[in-house]
Amino acid sequence: MTSIVKTNPGKPSRDSIKLAAEVIREGGLVVFPTETVYGLGANAFSSEACLKIFKAKERPPDNPLIVHISDMGMLMEITEDIHGDLIEKLEKIWPGPVTVLLKKSSKIPDTVTGGSPLVAVRMPDSLLSLELIREAGVPIAAPSANISTRPSITDSRHAIEELAGRVDLILDCGPTPHGVESTIINFTGTTCILLRAGAKPVEELEKIFGPIEVTDFSRGLLESTVPLAPGMKYRHYSPGKKLYLTATAGILQDISQKENLRDEIAIIASDEICSKSRLRCIPLGSETNLDLIARNLFAALRELDKTSCSIGLIQPFSESGKGLAIMNRIRKASSGRLESAESVQDFLH
Ligand code: AMP
Ligand code: MG
Repeated sequence: MTSIVKTNPGKPSRDSIKLAAEVIREGGLVVFPTETVYGLGANAFSSEACLKIFKAKERPPDNPLIVHISDMGMLMEITEDIHGDLIEKLEKIWPGPVTVLLKKSSKIPDTVTGGSPLVAVRMPDSLLSLELIREAGVPIAAPSANISTRPSITDSRHAIEELAGRVDLILDCGPTPHGVESTIINFTGTTCILLRAGAKPVEELEKIFGPIEVTDFSRGLLESTVPLAPGMKYRHYSPGKKLYLTATAGILQDISQKENLRDEIAIIASDEICSKSRLRCIPLGSETNLDLIARNLFAALRELDKTSCSIGLIQPFSESGKGLAIMNRIRKASSGRLESAESVQDFLH
């Protein structure tokens, strides 16, 4: 049985926090909103509780979990050998949508890290998350709250649809502010590498941490059997219907005028393209507002499955700022790329 409790994430009720913390302490699963996406949380110190996350999400065991903390004391408890200057820098970005890889202490079970000596840690910028972790008194391991391979969950409506019956408690708090997951950085090597583009733009992180290497992999351009981070090799963010990325926004605009394709194609695009389209549209927001596009993206992928169209088409966006994370998610969710408006016929059958 799954309890569903409605509360305001900016001012969560004491009762909801107490109940959720109790579920965590007793080894259960809680779905809760962070500032990025919904997380599926368990006590990060308990291997048994964390195993339940993998089962509920149908997640492969070598795809590790991010550990969420509420203060720097918890950071010291779960990691080893952190330099003082790194702590100072982390204090500048936390609470915030940035995850860092650090050497794990023996208190973090191998289940959480997929056997790696490194643990991924972040302090979320969400009052509800911070209060929940504090009240539970333990760090909370929480991957995104979707079933494996599906789009991440950015609205409690989708959490209830997808996870009721699989977890103990869902905190029903509406949409999340950022809509894409945290940025993941690895500082443990000689150079600083971006492992996943996310809600915090790399340009902003470089002001604090110096140069960060952005690989083709973190843009979502390469698929590899030798991932830079565990979990990267898996299929991600995929709607049930096939989604294709057009090489340019202009190609999608041209296709959007082909009224004869109305029953077959739904387009996921900026308000600018949707307002002139003759096809079924799922608007993401103005192309000049990448924050809004990020916030609407995963819900739009889920909306595609609710249409009667056979495929979805999506446009590319600028890769600056939050656009890097948006394009990474779009490329990974897509099954292919359309190089011209005429080639759309090849994708229909
Ligand atoms: P999710 O929480 O579903 O957004 O996924 C968390 C992602 O964080 C994983 O898929 C990995 O790419 C990354 N991650 C978590 N823990 C580690 C770790 N110990 N080492 C490397 N990457 C990690
Ligand atoms: Mg995920």
